[in-house]
Amino acid sequence: MSNIKVTILGSGGSFGVPVLSNRWGNCDSKNPKNIRTRPGAIIEKNGKTILIDANPDLRQQLIANKITSVNSVLFTHAHADHTHGINDLRAINLSNGHRLPVFADQKTKISLLNAFEYIFKSKNMAQYPPICEIIDYEAGKTYQIDGFKIDVIKQNHGNMDSLGYVIDDKIAYNLDVKFFYDETYLDKIKEIECLIIGCLRYEEHPAHADYEQILKWIEYVKPKVTYLSHMTALIDYVTEYEKLSKMSIFPSYDGCVINL
Ligand SMILES: [Zn+2]
Ligand SMILES: [Zn+2]
Repeated sequence: MSNIKVTILGSGGSFGVPVLSNRWGNCDSKNPKNIRTRPGAIIEKNGKTILIDANPDLRQQLIANKITSVNSVLFTHAHADHTHGINDLRAINLSNGHRLPVFADQKTKISLLNAFEYIFKSKNMAQYPPICEIIDYEAGKTYQIDGFKIDVIKQNHGNMDSLGYVIDDKIAYNLDVKFFYDETYLDKIKEIECLIIGCLRYEEHPAHADYEQILKWIEYVKPKVTYLSHMTALIDYVTEYEKLSKMSIFPSYDGCVINL
């Protein structure tokens, strides 16, 4: 199988780091790896590019990582930190020259159509043509998208569900997750090449797994390498690197590239 390049566009949570008013929490403000934009990633293989989520910092992230073309977008769920950069896909649409396929499950589709109708439907085709088209997908199924095999995983995310992915049987991407509905999921990804997992903070959170839980999952799955993402200002880069890197667990950072 061909090589996959993963770029972590944004490694932060919904507030980013620093939080407004220059609040750095536990993060060392002098370490640029602690500057975190909102969560998202790009996966590339054989000249094809898939964007995961369209977060509010998308434009800046695409420029920083020199991404000029995207073939498809996968939405994990409809929270604002994952969707409110959708307007920045306008520039991608311009360079692609056609409507960008956007994969969404039913609940996310309804939210997207409610919040961003103009992205998908146009009342004035001449001046404002729609830039994206929604393609239905759902958890529990496997899709072939732009040459990637994508298993779509249903995750609990507090009072809603979100989607995770297993990509080409090599990468598990599980960001906004409290627990997995499928009790055999962790067995299915055992010893996977790379796990990218959301790690919000140390304390319990109603919609996200806490730090200890995440470490238990990693200990069970034993991925070859694990990257933490979706980190708040409570998670300092160097503190975690020093604690975890000997176990091949690394905090990610904005622009972090993983070649597999
Ligand atoms: Zn969320
Ligand atoms: Zn989120």
